[in-house]
Amino acid sequence: MPVHDAALLLLGHGSTLNADSSTPTHQHAEEIRRRGIFAEVHVAFWKEEPNLRQALRLIAQRRVYVVPNFISSGYFTEQIIPRELDLDGPVTRRGEREIYYCEPAGLHPLMTEALLRRAREVVSESTEMIREPAKTACLFICGHGTSLNDNSTKVIHEQAAAIRARGLFADCQAVLMEQSPFVKDWRTLTACPDVIVAPFFIADGLHSFEDIPVLMGLTSNVKEFNFTNPHRENGRRLWYATAIGTVSFLADVILAQVRQFKEAHPETGRAAASPAPANAIDDELARFLEQNPPPWKIGELLIRPGFELRHRDDRDSDPAKLQNVTSIAGLREWIRLDRHGNFRPLRAAPNLRRGWIYHAGDLPTLHLALDYLYPAALANWMMARQGGLPATPWRETAERQTGRLRVVREIDDAALHELVAQHCQRGCLKRRLWPPATQHTGENPGEIPLLCPEACNFLVAGRARS
Ligand code: SF4
Repeated sequence: MPVHDAALLLLGHGSTLNADSSTPTHQHAEEIRRRGIFAEVHVAFWKEEPNLRQALRLIAQRRVYVVPNFISSGYFTEQIIPRELDLDGPVTRRGEREIYYCEPAGLHPLMTEALLRRAREVVSESTEMIREPAKTACLFICGHGTSLNDNSTKVIHEQAAAIRARGLFADCQAVLMEQSPFVKDWRTLTACPDVIVAPFFIADGLHSFEDIPVLMGLTSNVKEFNFTNPHRENGRRLWYATAIGTVSFLADVILAQVRQFKEAHPETGRAAASPAPANAIDDELARFLEQNPPPWKIGELLIRPGFELRHRDDRDSDPAKLQNVTSIAGLREWIRLDRHGNFRPLRAAPNLRRGWIYHAGDLPTLHLALDYLYPAALANWMMARQGGLPATPWRETAERQTGRLRVVREIDDAALHELVAQHCQRGCLKRRLWPPATQHTGENPGEIPLLCPEACNFLVAGRARS
């Protein structure tokens, strides 16, 4: 299904607290990028950088397939994403650009295959096997369950019915954390001697690592306490899997959603009439490197000739003594945590780890690496240079907040300046463009500035926490 004249934009929820939340979305994007199906592959998140509102500015292609990496449809896929991306429906036309809004990954029928693979994998990765699962094993698909959104529960029941119909397991049931049938009742819900539990979540986190294992009476944390499969109890064996969204096969499910969209909207499947646009960000970056003597700077980073990246405090370090990061996925992992092992939800915080070196190899890979290190920084910088970077006033950002974050709508300017002093001035290298906290934004020769066109989730969440 090559779509060489289009981009894929994969959207995730992300988190300002959970370092694992965005990882599967990044991994699936990397796998799809590796296959060379699209001209560009990007990610964006509701709670992490790059955020949804900046997502489309990362993309050069005129045609963009947007796939929400969500387990079901609901509030985020039906309200938040269309609002943040300014979508009209399945097909949105904005000038020369066409945006195709696909169904969430979790709704595709191939999710049944993903569940079956996860169930097979978790058993085969252990030291024991289930000889005849069709006679002895029950597969539990475990979701959250909430009265606020019935869709995710419905999807889980549908998946359980589809798997039961195949007869590969003696039984397959949907179980929920907060609704009946409760996962805590697993011992009585099935009489099967072998039990497999697959959490139906897009990423691992509190629910899959702690909440479900606690409800099931297995352990207080499968990750920290090295839970080993199978768990044995009263002559029964139980295998506990990681979240379904972490299965590598999800990349195929995402592509299947694009394929399904193209079949449902044949008019969008044609090749673009006009030639593919040049990547304006690559061009701007190339010009910058040509016009300024090395080394170049961005945030805490130093860029040297040969597309070499390292921490600016490692300027004089012997490369042989630095950890050689050899892949873009390795770089993503390296920059995810600070030197104390804490999650870095704010990439412009001055806490980038030292001691590494990465050779991007070429300009597009340098562009990608910089997008990982400082999400959307290049796109914002290019737009600012061209005089077209819009800044979102604080009041507008505050009005968009929902749930517990609605509290930020009520803060006055004095409280806002206090918040900025606490979070932005102390802990962020970006220069604010948004009123009423606008800063001076001059450019230093040889440095790409980190620009902040609107208050980030970290700042908003900071207010909600305090
Ligand atoms: S709002 Fe503040 S903390 Fe957030 S990115 Fe902008 S400058 Fe940094």
